Amino acid sequence: MSRFWSPFVKDLVPYVPGEQPKLSKLVKLNTNENPYGPSPRAIAAMRAEVGDELRLYPDPNGERLKQAVADYYGVQSNQVFVGNGSDEVLAHAFHGLFQHGRPLLFPDVTYSFYPVYCGLYGIAYETIALDEQFRIDVADYARPNGGIIFPNPNAPTGRALSLADIERILAANPDSVVVIDEAYVDFGGETAMPLVATYPNLLVVQTLSKSRSLAGLRVGFAVGQEDLIEALERVKNSFNSYPLDRLAIAGAVAAMADRDHFERTRQAVIRSREALVKELAALGFDVLPSAANFIFARHPQRDAGELAAALRARSIIVRHFRQPRIEQFLRITVGTDELCRALTGTLRDILR
Ligand code: PMP
Repeated sequence: MSRFWSPFVKDLVPYVPGEQPKLSKLVKLNTNENPYGPSPRAIAAMRAEVGDELRLYPDPNGERLKQAVADYYGVQSNQVFVGNGSDEVLAHAFHGLFQHGRPLLFPDVTYSFYPVYCGLYGIAYETIALDEQFRIDVADYARPNGGIIFPNPNAPTGRALSLADIERILAANPDSVVVIDEAYVDFGGETAMPLVATYPNLLVVQTLSKSRSLAGLRVGFAVGQEDLIEALERVKNSFNSYPLDRLAIAGAVAAMADRDHFERTRQAVIRSREALVKELAALGFDVLPSAANFIFARHPQRDAGELAAALRARSIIVRHFRQPRIEQFLRITVGTDELCRALTGTLRDILR
């Protein structure tokens, strides 16, 4: 706290990302990164972009990337917004679409950045409790609100909601924007993109950080009808004209085009997840059904914080949230089969 701060800064409660330790030889299963590298075509496109042209600003609108996303999902490029990671896209959505003086609704167990944005932008919110099995009950979202947001699949639970249920929420809330945060959808969820044409209140947000292995590049996007996108553009153009640099635009365009690499790597992650779930169940863990590239599990006899610490002492890091309802769970990113075996082998030793 300093007298130089704007007063509101002392009341901010910033988001705490999973750690990125400098140690090598770590089995890093704590931030849901993809264990496979990005598309070689994306890397080649970025290499080709390194040169004298970097003296020039990038396209402020990232038009090539908007078109690549539009082509991928069969929408118009004016229905696409691109930003510096989906976190930035989400921030602009909170800023530009959720300030209506009525509370924003999101689940009690969900992405912990949502309440942080509410704090930053002064948005009131109500959390809606997931049921005993950590599922969203759509009936709970039929109440007055100034917007609704949740990830599908949800994080950190990994549980997916059906498209029919999402449609129920959209239809019950025609006067509110519903943001579906699809950071993990490619690992087993159903995308809501086909509903965009029918529902003017739907904004679908995705990222290239997970299923396209580009967390280090910082690229995310949103798809919605034109007037929702225009709100995001107005906020963005009042904040930073060039959120995506030249390398990011070139790499992201190539990554969206490389469907083979995308399919191969996401299927490999899904297969490893299914094997990991079986292994953990055999070790006595209760594992929630996951449609994501992570699993959420608890051991009925062992304290989650102690398990996380014991893994850490053996150079394996997973995520443990000290939060009501989930303090006995571990969120474990799905690695390669080899990394998953390192985890389950070590857990077997710890549990012995
Ligand atoms: N939404 C959810 C649910 C997430 O877990 C994450 C990753 N922390 C993000 C959005 C943001 O991802 P990125 O900014 O890397 O696109």
